[in-house]
Amino acid sequence: MKGDRYCIICGEYLGNYLKDDYYALLHRKYCNDCGPWKRAGDVRFNQAEYRNRKRNIQNQKDQKLQDAIIEIVALRKLLAEKMNP
Ligand SMILES: [Zn+2]
Repeated sequence: MKGDRYCIICGEYLGNYLKDDYYALLHRKYCNDCGPWKRAGDVRFNQAEYRNRKRNIQNQKDQKLQDAIIEIVALRKLLAEKMNP
């Protein structure tokens, strides 16, 4: 029937937004049991993605620093050779 809302995970009937509360049901996707479970999963996923992004950025910074240190050591060695032939 038009306007019926069901939980998209377990299929539980939530209500009809044409008959019941329109604004509460129009964009509702999950029942009271599946909603918190889905939200917790999304939060864990987003936290994991955030940690991975941070780790990648930190690894890139570390790599740039190591490259700069190697270059500085080489330049210092070259300079010492030029100054004391
Ligand atoms: Zn459900």
